[in-house]
Amino acid sequence: MLFLIFANQAWSLEVAASINPIHQIILSIGGDSNLIIKPGLSEHDYQLKKSDISALVKADLIFYVDDSLEKNFPKLIKNFHLEKKSYQLSKITGINLLQCRNNSKKLDPHLWLDPENGIKIAEFVTQKFCESDKKNCLKYQNNFQKFRQEITKVESVIKSDLVGLDANYVIYHDAYQYFEKSFAIKAQKIISYDHNSQLKVNDLRGLELVKCLVSERMDEKNSAQKLAENYQIKFVTLDVIGGDESYAKLLTKIAQGFVKCAKK
Ligand SMILES: [Zn+2]
Repeated sequence: MLFLIFANQAWSLEVAASINPIHQIILSIGGDSNLIIKPGLSEHDYQLKKSDISALVKADLIFYVDDSLEKNFPKLIKNFHLEKKSYQLSKITGINLLQCRNNSKKLDPHLWLDPENGIKIAEFVTQKFCESDKKNCLKYQNNFQKFRQEITKVESVIKSDLVGLDANYVIYHDAYQYFEKSFAIKAQKIISYDHNSQLKVNDLRGLELVKCLVSERMDEKNSAQKLAENYQIKFVTLDVIGGDESYAKLLTKIAQGFVKCAKK
């Protein structure tokens, strides 16, 4: 009997998530997903492999951030007619969107770093799970309530950790705007707006007065670290994608990085 109950409630959906923070939110809601862009790989210029394409084609639901981030998704969705089961999270009603700081026409796609957006994404995922898997809907809704409580709590802890932070830091690439806005901190300077551009003399102006340099990813690490060494400023890497930690932990780790940055 017990077995029957479990069998009845088994996870049965095929879900694909583009990046790890979305995958982590899906896990929190009680589902699972095929993570397409693995941690450590660039969220900006990932090339889909054959196995990714078949995972996306056979999925019941596809969640990704925005056409401008997972640049290969729109074409694939169109070619394989996956529109009805594909969800761009930037289109969720009420989600907070920011424009790139250097280009007001372009969306800054790192929207998951706003915890309120994380909650909205989780709510949306819950709704889609409930539509596709009605018998487990209550479970998903309960998990969503827990998730919302957890994130709200994490938000207030981070707020108190970052209040009055001596924000004498610069950002190597512009990826933290949503986090900074949410917690009222602000970089002194963004060195480069584009992940791939060469630095110009102007990008380095004023660096000698700065205490800490924040960089996003491993592939940026070498050039950012060298720059920090040259200017004798502290260097911190803040991962916006995360490894196997939860979404709450991802936010907490970013906050800890900013605290580390501000420490004397
Ligand atoms: Zn990025």
